[in-house]
Amino acid sequence: MKIRYLPQDPLVGGVREVTLKGSGGLANERMSVQDQASVARPDADGNFLYELGTPEFQQGNTFVAANRTLDMFEKAVGHKIPWAFQGDLKIHTHYGSGFNAFYLRQDHSLNFFDGVDQKTGKTIHGSESLDVISHETGHAILDGLRPGLMGWFGSGEAPAFHESFGDMTAILTSLQDDLVIERVCQETGGDLRKPNVAARLAEEMSQGINHTYLQSTRPESWVMRDANNDYLYVRPEGLPEKAPPEVLSPEPHSFSRIFTGAFWEMLSGVQERMLAQGQSPQQALRASRDVMASMLGHAVELGPNRLNRFHQMAQAFLKADERYFGGEYKDLLQDVLGSRNLISKAAPEVQAPRDISAAMALVHSSGGDPMPESVWKNDRGETFVRFDAIQEVQLDAHTTTDLAASLTLGIDSEGQVFHSLWEPVTDETVEAARQEVSLLRRREPAGSSDLERGYSAQPTRQGQKLSKLAVAY
Ligand SMILES: [Zn+2]
Repeated sequence: MKIRYLPQDPLVGGVREVTLKGSGGLANERMSVQDQASVARPDADGNFLYELGTPEFQQGNTFVAANRTLDMFEKAVGHKIPWAFQGDLKIHTHYGSGFNAFYLRQDHSLNFFDGVDQKTGKTIHGSESLDVISHETGHAILDGLRPGLMGWFGSGEAPAFHESFGDMTAILTSLQDDLVIERVCQETGGDLRKPNVAARLAEEMSQGINHTYLQSTRPESWVMRDANNDYLYVRPEGLPEKAPPEVLSPEPHSFSRIFTGAFWEMLSGVQERMLAQGQSPQQALRASRDVMASMLGHAVELGPNRLNRFHQMAQAFLKADERYFGGEYKDLLQDVLGSRNLISKAAPEVQAPRDISAAMALVHSSGGDPMPESVWKNDRGETFVRFDAIQEVQLDAHTTTDLAASLTLGIDSEGQVFHSLWEPVTDETVEAARQEVSLLRRREPAGSSDLERGYSAQPTRQGQKLSKLAVAY
C-alpha cells in the first residue's frame, strides 16, 4: 500500500509517497494508529494518499515514520526488537493541545500534540514531523531493549540518555531518505560540521515554541536541539537547575545534547573516512549512517540496564566497535568521546560472572528468581538474556519502592558467554532513588495526576509503595 508522508520536518518539506508492506490499513502486528478523529481508510486501490495538513495525512505520517524507525533499528541489530509491554504500540496522533509529544509504557502509547503558533496563528502538528515521531518511537525502542533505564527511581543520567537516543534515532531515520541525504549534501558540500537539516531537530515545533513561549526572542532559524554542537560533559549536579535554552542544565533534554553532539561528531568522523576512501558525499553519508545505526544499537545491547553516568554508555560504544567492527573505529571513538569528557579515567566495573552457572548463582544470591526477563537472538547467532532480581526497598518509614538488580548476558553461537554485566542494588542505588523521589515530591503540583507527578502510589500496611511511571517526552 502507498502512503504519503514527510521524510523529515514540515519546515523542510518534500511530501513523498512510500510503499509499505501489509494491507491492514494503519495497523500491523507491531503498532496501530488510534485517534479521537476516525482513523483514515484506504482509497479504492488500498492507498493512503491524503493531503498534507489533514488528520488522515497525519495518521499515515505517524504510521510510516514509526515503522521506518523500528525497521531501521531491527536491521541494525539483526533481530526483532521487543516492546517493554505485551501487544502493539498505540499511536495517538492527536492526543491534546500544546507543543509536545510523549511515550508512556504503562499505556503502550506514543502521543502527539497540536499547538497554535501565537505569532502566525498556524497549528503545528507534532504528528507531521518525522523528527518528533521518530524521537518518541526511539523512546519505545530503547525501553524495549533496556527497560531499566526508565523503570526505576534513581536512574542518574539515564533520562538524558533516553532523550539523546530519541534524537540520534530521529537523525538516523531521516537519513534513510534519499531526499534528506541530497539536501544535507547540498547544504554542507560533504562537511557535516556545517549547519544542516539532519542535525537540526524539530524545526517547526521549535519555531512555534520560539514564537509562543520565548516571545520570538530567538532568530527564526532557531531550533531546540542541534546535534552539531560543542557541549562538553560536566557532572549535572554542578549545573544551574534553570537556564536559558542555549545553556546546559540538568534537565534531561538539555543535558542530552552532550551525548548527541558526540554522536554527530562520531558520524562525521566515519563519513570523513569514507570520503577519504573516494566515496561521493552521498555514498559516504549513507555508509556512515549505517555504521552508526549499528554502533548505537549494539552499544545499547552491551550497555547498562541502569545508567548512572554517560561514561558507561561511551564505554559501551567502544565495546560495540570492538565486537562488531573489529576495533576499526577505536581511535576515532576515543578521540571524540575523550574530547567531550565522556571517557572516565576511573571507571571501576563490577566483576561480572564469566559463565552461565556462576551468573545464575549470583542472581539467586541477591534474592531474585532467575527467570529471564528478556531474550533475543540476532542474525549472528548471538543470544542476549537479561535477568532482573527485583527487591522492595525502604525509601522512608512509610514509603517503599521496587528496585532491580540486573544481569545481562551475551552468549555466542558456540554457547560461550562473551559479554556479562552485573548491576547490583547497592546503598548508592537506594540513596539515588530516595533523592529522586524527594525531588519529585517537592515539584508535585497540588491535585496532580500520576502522569504529572511521574509516579503512582499504592497504599500498603506501612504507608505506600511508589512505582515510577515509565514516561518520556
Ligand atoms: Zn524525548
